Amino acid sequence: MKISLLIPFYNEQEMVPITLDTVVPILSSVCEDYEILMVDDGSTDETWSFIEAACRDNQRLSGLRLSRNFGKEAAICAGLDQVTGDAVILMDGDLQHPPEHIPEMIRLWQDGNDIVEGVKKSRGRESLTSRMNASLFYRLFHRLTGYDLRNASDFKLLDKRVVRQWRRLQEQDTFFRGLSAWLGFKRAVFYFEVAERKAGRSKWSPFKLLSLSLNAITGFTAVPLHAITILGLIMLIFSAVLIVQTLITFFSGHAQTGFTTVILLQLLIGGCIMVSLGLIGIYIARIFQEVKGRPRYIVSETAGPVEQDVEGPIDRP
Ligand code: UDP
Ligand code: MG
Repeated sequence: MKISLLIPFYNEQEMVPITLDTVVPILSSVCEDYEILMVDDGSTDETWSFIEAACRDNQRLSGLRLSRNFGKEAAICAGLDQVTGDAVILMDGDLQHPPEHIPEMIRLWQDGNDIVEGVKKSRGRESLTSRMNASLFYRLFHRLTGYDLRNASDFKLLDKRVVRQWRRLQEQDTFFRGLSAWLGFKRAVFYFEVAERKAGRSKWSPFKLLSLSLNAITGFTAVPLHAITILGLIMLIFSAVLIVQTLITFFSGHAQTGFTTVILLQLLIGGCIMVSLGLIGIYIARIFQEVKGRPRYIVSETAGPVEQDVEGPIDRP
């Protein structure tokens, strides 16, 4: 059996050697055949030189360098397209996903589970706002899509059958956590304590997180679009009542000047229409994104034994 370990790195020059020094002994103690695939997500620091150096020293290591920062989701896709193991373990490059759990993950996989998922016992040290935002997002995601991803993480093991199915997914904008739940298969969970980051800092800006959340929700459900229709229906019923009432007051000669009411209704309806259009716009933007059919990532360099065609398709004659 061969285990692949997939680690995305983005500006993690301090972490590359530390992470490798930690995971290599653990992997070699539990399985005789393994590979570690490191994806450099367009780092602007020395991350790639460290990855290349490590690949020269150890034949089991390999690296992919993306041509720019495509984001963690794309880095995961790049890695999953390349791994060759019977199972692949995905973990963060900052050791916040404690590698001591790897033997346990492999055991659960050997017990016949296709997906082994790490569930956070606690969310580690985090600000109150980011905790609240995360909780709001997961509650909304659960409500709208039916997938409960609370405390889920990207620390997962996937059997090669699952990886094969993953490769069939067509969408540009992936949401690994959600899609791995969507794929189904027999799954087991284990619990882990999110470790402190050893060096460097978190790469998620509030804006990146907001766009990931929007992508996640719009990529999984069209419920917000249906909500617009329902909102429209409610307004229609409300208007019908109001029309009748207005006509009665008018014909009975009690009609008021009613300027305030008109303005308020205008503002309320105008606001609803704009929000609804925005929501439709988000879905149209997604369709636009998907329809362009651009590749999810572009590999510019490789290190170690990977079979990736860096050149891409040959120019037309
Ligand atoms: N990462 C990546 N591309 C990005 C952002 C992050 O490959 O654009 C990697 C990063 O190097 C790390 C993992 O994804 O290995 C998790 O990132 P981070 O620690 O910044 O996220 P957090 O732990 O704060 O959720
Ligand atoms: Mg982290």
